[in-house]
Amino acid sequence: VSPLSNRLLAMNESATIAMAKKSRELMAKGFDVINLSFGEPDFQTPQYIKDAAKQALDDGYTFYTPVPGIPELRQAICDKFKRDNQLEYLPNQIVVSTGAKQALANAVMSLVNPGDEVIVFSPYWVSYEEMVKLAEGTTVTLAGSLENDYKVTAAQLEAAITERTKLIMYSSPCNPTGSVFTREELGAIAAVLARHPQVYALADEIYEYINFVGEHVSLAQFPEVKDRVITVNGFSKGYAMTGWRLGYLAARQDIASACEKMQSQITSGTCSITQRAGLAALRGGRSSADEMVEAYRRRRDLVLEIVRDIPGFKTPTPSGAFYIFPEVSAYFGRTTPDGSTINTSMDLAMYLLNDALVSAVSGEAFGAPDCMRFSTAAADDKLVEAFRRVKVSLAKL
Ligand code: PLP
Repeated sequence: VSPLSNRLLAMNESATIAMAKKSRELMAKGFDVINLSFGEPDFQTPQYIKDAAKQALDDGYTFYTPVPGIPELRQAICDKFKRDNQLEYLPNQIVVSTGAKQALANAVMSLVNPGDEVIVFSPYWVSYEEMVKLAEGTTVTLAGSLENDYKVTAAQLEAAITERTKLIMYSSPCNPTGSVFTREELGAIAAVLARHPQVYALADEIYEYINFVGEHVSLAQFPEVKDRVITVNGFSKGYAMTGWRLGYLAARQDIASACEKMQSQITSGTCSITQRAGLAALRGGRSSADEMVEAYRRRRDLVLEIVRDIPGFKTPTPSGAFYIFPEVSAYFGRTTPDGSTINTSMDLAMYLLNDALVSAVSGEAFGAPDCMRFSTAAADDKLVEAFRRVKVSLAKL
């Protein structure tokens, strides 16, 4: 018998990480794989942020930090919420974590009891469902439709809430679809939540700065629900700081304290040097992010132009983030040159990895088994070559 816990055995490995692992294996064998499976900016962290980290080391800033983050960084995060989101928070409402991922996990573990229902807007980011499972909650997925850019509507939410609903979770801009909720849409969702005072919301805004339509709206901006919204954000995407592991949440003070307590027993405060770097990042404003967004927009347009010519792909135009998320079910039932049948988007992803040497992630892991996610965070020439190869391989089916 396995010595591993039921909790662990029930958990799926992160599909994006699994796919990246497979493509690295092929690369190690000498194959020229273009990896579009990872949700990672291909930009370097801006120099002024790196300089602050070097300075922190030179200053001997190498000790434990307070669990919820260093005071200057918590204050800078409050300033950021005020400047960018017109939201007032006190530093004791902010918890700095080892990535937005930990902030999300802290919130789920702090709020969800066994049997509580958590409504996850689908397509969703891969880890949401597993976090809910860890907390022994029950995930209720609500699927947005292709026609509505995969955005769940307030009416759908109203119909899904029961007396056991504890939490809703979504990302906007959304990973994987790139959809961005408008003020009107989030206002309608806030109005639904206002009618159900037992329901909390976990709003994942990690892609805030990677937005091609302009306005970023936070659910917490609606005063009737602000107290029940936990807003998660971080540095990985907007400041190209994935490896530094820095994220945060803002919440009602008692919820922030609960997340701090959770974190205190698992990891303590995140890396001291990283926090100094994050402080510099925020003090530098968002201009470095704005430059990256221009590149992401150009790549999105470049990729969409090629992808629109691929028969059978139905690809909405992403409003933010750095992915395209085509519906690919037209290829189900087709036969590959070596005689196997493509039954699922996982089969299609494996075929593209082996035949086109392009790695993408099957939509199954995002709750959308008819879709596939390709990252557009790669150099322009790589993207052009990748989608040229995809087109050639698909034509063989
Ligand atoms: N939320 C979403 C929607 C993401 O795509 C990611 C990273 O891929 C995260 C959270 C986690 O970000 P971090 O690197 O800050 O842990």
